[in-house]
Amino acid sequence: MRAWNYSAGPSMIPTEVMAKAQAEFCDFNGMGLGVVEMSHRWPEYMKVAYDAEALLRKIMNIPENYAVLFEQGGGRGQFAAIPLNLLPEDGFADYFVTGHWSSCAEKECAERYGKTVRHECFHKNEDGQYVVDFSQMKVTEGATYAYICLNETVNGIEVFDLPDTGDVPLIADMSSNILTRPIDVTKFGAIIFGAQKNIAPAGLTVTIVRRDLLGKARKYCPSILDWSVLDKYESMYNTPNSFAWYMAGLAFEWIEGLGGVQELERRNIAKSDMLYDYIDSSDFYKCQVAKSDRSRVNCVFNLNNEELNQEFLAEAKKRNLLGLKGHKVLGGMRASLYNAMPIEGAEVLVKFLKEFAQSHGGK
Ligand SMILES: *Cc1c(COP(=O)(O)O)cnc(C)c1O
Repeated sequence: MRAWNYSAGPSMIPTEVMAKAQAEFCDFNGMGLGVVEMSHRWPEYMKVAYDAEALLRKIMNIPENYAVLFEQGGGRGQFAAIPLNLLPEDGFADYFVTGHWSSCAEKECAERYGKTVRHECFHKNEDGQYVVDFSQMKVTEGATYAYICLNETVNGIEVFDLPDTGDVPLIADMSSNILTRPIDVTKFGAIIFGAQKNIAPAGLTVTIVRRDLLGKARKYCPSILDWSVLDKYESMYNTPNSFAWYMAGLAFEWIEGLGGVQELERRNIAKSDMLYDYIDSSDFYKCQVAKSDRSRVNCVFNLNNEELNQEFLAEAKKRNLLGLKGHKVLGGMRASLYNAMPIEGAEVLVKFLKEFAQSHGGK
């Protein structure tokens, strides 16, 4: 029996993908060994790796003039790689801050690599709910790039409309909402994401970058973070996370098989609507993000009586509902409904929320 896993990351992987990896674990394609044991230089492995890249290009509709790089170092690694690859010593970059992760990215740049203009792009409205403030998303003249996080995993805030940055490349962190809805790649200079939320095990990071932005890295940028080095060596400059890359390929096949990102978007809307609709109708729980800016994949909510938090989590665990505790910087609860979460996972959660509320005099 599989648990209902609402963890924010590493997180649920589709059971079909887990089962396929398990079936092939000790013996891949009759080779008598597993992918995890194979050299990344073997043609059999390279086929796995580059088929995965081709499939990602297909399901995301990534044009030829973008490089797709499979790396390590996570989102945090890319927070450093972005300025090291793009920002000249005397330049500056705009950072649109909509929550925890964009704030971390801004700090990484400002404290180590170069000047930033930090735009505070979210605030509490009259109703005490967080809203994304697009009026603050204006690029500063002369900025080398503008940075945005399309889904704030910790805060439960998602950005659906993109700011118009003109010729200034828009660099986006999509770690937690990649492949959860169609994205027009051509609107971005670069897209970065870790695989551990919507795709595969932790330890794999992907950068999709427009080719004209390659070759601008600082001299002292570590080779391993230099996008043009990774591009030149087709992401095999050093040993990649070969197993996570393989599992990403299985996830891409799974996505293609169920109808692509359009179908996932439909499911993700259905799941998150179900949860938010109940929370809004309840007098027991609240969501502190304004309706228009709520994440479809990280539903952040609170019990009105926070003293019941421990009991809530313990009761959830008894029913095999795991990973509902909110991020330490915010407290409260968070249910992550990533791609792998079936609609039934949202139904089970809403049922539990209701029953817990009712057993404590709420609705
Ligand atoms: C998880 C997450 C990160 C951090 O990723 P690591 O791989 O742990 O470095 C960065 N940005 C967003 C939006 C995330 O969800």
